[in-house]
Amino acid sequence: MTTSPQPRPAIARIPPYVAGKPPVPREGMTTYKLSSNENPYPPLPGVVEAAEAAVRTMNRYPDMGNASLYAALSAKLAVPTDHLALATGSVALIYQLVQAFCDPDDEVVFAWRSFEAYPIAVTAASARLVRVPVLADGRHDLDAMAAAVTPRTRVVLVCTPNNPTGPAVTQSELDAFLAKVPPQVLVVVDEAYVEFVRMDDAVDGVATYRRYDNVLLTRTFSKAYGLAGFRVGYAVGPAALAGALRAVSLPFGVSGVAQAAALASLEREDELLERVDSLVAERERVVAGLADAGWQVPEPQGNFVWLALGERTLEFAAAADEAGIVVRPFAGEGARVTVAEPEANDRLVRLVQDWVSPS
Ligand code: PMP
Repeated sequence: MTTSPQPRPAIARIPPYVAGKPPVPREGMTTYKLSSNENPYPPLPGVVEAAEAAVRTMNRYPDMGNASLYAALSAKLAVPTDHLALATGSVALIYQLVQAFCDPDDEVVFAWRSFEAYPIAVTAASARLVRVPVLADGRHDLDAMAAAVTPRTRVVLVCTPNNPTGPAVTQSELDAFLAKVPPQVLVVVDEAYVEFVRMDDAVDGVATYRRYDNVLLTRTFSKAYGLAGFRVGYAVGPAALAGALRAVSLPFGVSGVAQAAALASLEREDELLERVDSLVAERERVVAGLADAGWQVPEPQGNFVWLALGERTLEFAAAADEAGIVVRPFAGEGARVTVAEPEANDRLVRLVQDWVSPS
């Protein structure tokens, strides 16, 4: 019998989180990190100034209530502040909501492949993973997900646009799904990439939450607002659900510097959303370039594209390293590539043209 402290058995089952690799420096060549769906543009000067000013009070704990940021988000979204929950990135919200809503062996349903933190958070809480394969075109199979709901299901995670495959769920698909899900099941709409969506009838998470008592959405400052390193995400949901997330949040989790950066970004939202527009234009250019090369991707609605390369995935990732672009491979399945600066995107298109022969 072992005498040392033992973590819960679930801890040994937690799958690793594989973070996107940093770019490999190459002689005489700019290299690009396209492996973490980051925004290629640094924070705006006014955002940097606000964060720098906040550094001067870092001897103090931050405002634990995040009052200014809650007020700004409440005004932006036209929702009461008690319908919001701020956290250290939207990934923290995933952990918090599993912790708040699941007992051991309760079930969490989600599409697969999807965001790799889902199985980590669910396993860490000793809850059960119910993974429903995405359709061949990378979309959620919402019929199968509804069919997977059992009396043990506490949470369903809907990732739209889906990381890593790209497509978004339509409002009519989500409404049809919600009509089938019992009201005691929490449906989380993960909208980490919502600002990049350009399609008719896309899910409107905020409007949806206003119509259902069991819907909560999560968003982040990491992608469109370009603040990944600051770690700020938020949830919007009915007061009782948002309150449960706040109850299990890490005290003082969102630093004063992060609060200042997020606030200053909201004040400069127009400029940041123009950058998003240019990334969306680049995304369209990449899709067209790949199509010219004879390669179709599932309809990308985030800031990334999915190359379903199957067994050739790791070989492709190695060739991408050689070409000075670091992609995110999922061995045996495909590679996810972030849309970034035009030069980086050109390299991706050239690489696919030169290297991949369409299957
Ligand atoms: N949801 C999805 C679908 C994501 O892809 C990510 C980041 N890759 C997150 C949530 C978490 O983002 P963050 O914690 O930076 O807000």
